[in-house]
Amino acid sequence: MTDRMSLPLAQADPDVAAAIDHETLRQHEGLEMIASENFVSEAVLEAAGSVFTNKYAEGYPGRRYYGGCEYADIVENLARERARQIFGGEHINVQPHSGSQANASAYAAVLQPGDTILGLDLSHGGHLTHGHKLSFSGKLYRTTFYHVRRDTETIDYDELEATAIQEKPKVIIGGASAYPRLWDFARMRQIADKVGAIYIFDMAHIAGLVAGGVHPSPVPHAQITTTTTHKTLRGPRAGLIICTQDLATAVDKSVFPGQQGGPLVHIVAAKAVAFGEVLQPEFRTYAAQIVANAKALAEALQAAGFRLVSGGTDNHLMLVDVFEKGILGSEAELALGKAGITVNKNTIPYDTNPPLKASGIRVGTPALTTRGMKEPEMRQIAAWIAKALEMRNDDAALARIRGEVAELANRFPLYAWRRAPVAVEA
Ligand SMILES: *Cc1c(COP(=O)(O)O)cnc(C)c1O
Repeated sequence: MTDRMSLPLAQADPDVAAAIDHETLRQHEGLEMIASENFVSEAVLEAAGSVFTNKYAEGYPGRRYYGGCEYADIVENLARERARQIFGGEHINVQPHSGSQANASAYAAVLQPGDTILGLDLSHGGHLTHGHKLSFSGKLYRTTFYHVRRDTETIDYDELEATAIQEKPKVIIGGASAYPRLWDFARMRQIADKVGAIYIFDMAHIAGLVAGGVHPSPVPHAQITTTTTHKTLRGPRAGLIICTQDLATAVDKSVFPGQQGGPLVHIVAAKAVAFGEVLQPEFRTYAAQIVANAKALAEALQAAGFRLVSGGTDNHLMLVDVFEKGILGSEAELALGKAGITVNKNTIPYDTNPPLKASGIRVGTPALTTRGMKEPEMRQIAAWIAKALEMRNDDAALARIRGEVAELANRFPLYAWRRAPVAVEA
């Protein structure tokens, strides 16, 4: 090893080291309410930063294209076995690098280019990879969409069925990035069976709730279930596929060599660690608290006069219709950011504003729940959100809220030993 190779990051590359220090402090000081984000444990971080990043392991455990895979096999088998214990299902593939790649692989396993997908419209809560024209899914496949009802703002299964009968999709995909309600998996499978489609469910957002037993599972209903592992599931940034045995070979081939080359073995190792955490009884408590916190936050926001899309939440997130109070989602995101509360602007169903402005914000509780916050903190945060939106043009008021936010954050420390004040000040 040359001298340079053995330097710690702070000495080898002070610029990147400082950015990491600042990011660590940013994560600690603010209130992370982006519904798709979470904080992994020290153990998951350690595995993700391990020497497995050096290893090529194309193929699957026991049948690799490279030598020296005996330890890679161990972590991949652990990840698969633990995922099976968590979710059930007949076959598991833990190699997808991301949720998008899990979806690309799932589609390619059962579709030819030009075949039709029926997914939830992006502007009604769906995901880019469910057929949006800017995504590979909308370029490679013919896509049609279902929507939420105008009155209830919940999935319109009658419209879904009518569209399925008319368009004869080969895949019906369920799942969303911004949908606060439960899904009717049985009804979707019934519709898929009726038109001869494969039912894929993308549980990226809710996987941790499913794992924790506070949300019904799509796995018994869908032929293929895809997910990210970094949202409510609280693992490293990556994806996962669960499928029925008859699709196992097609899915495995579709992931590798179809979509990817070598797996990210360090991330597979981190998935194994995260899944081990999910199997502990504490994770069930965590998942239940995510939902309890979302309920408390939703009720407090409603009490403060905000309209929530669909009237509330069953899961970890809610969509707040800020435009009903004359505030754009983009303005709300900016003002809350200045107050130390991180959210994202989000379209609401039948939005009259363009996506970059949007009429809503999406707010989630998984990350704050990881820090140990409970209902009283949610009520306090709802009050700050209401105040910050009211005072959105008053930078001094927003800075005062930011100070109060930092005090709360300090009571729920995050990555304490990783925060290096000296390096941050440098
Ligand atoms: C986040 C998300 C994805 C994509 O995950 P990436 O890892 O960012 O590619 C796919 N589907 C849904 C429903 C999501 O919410």
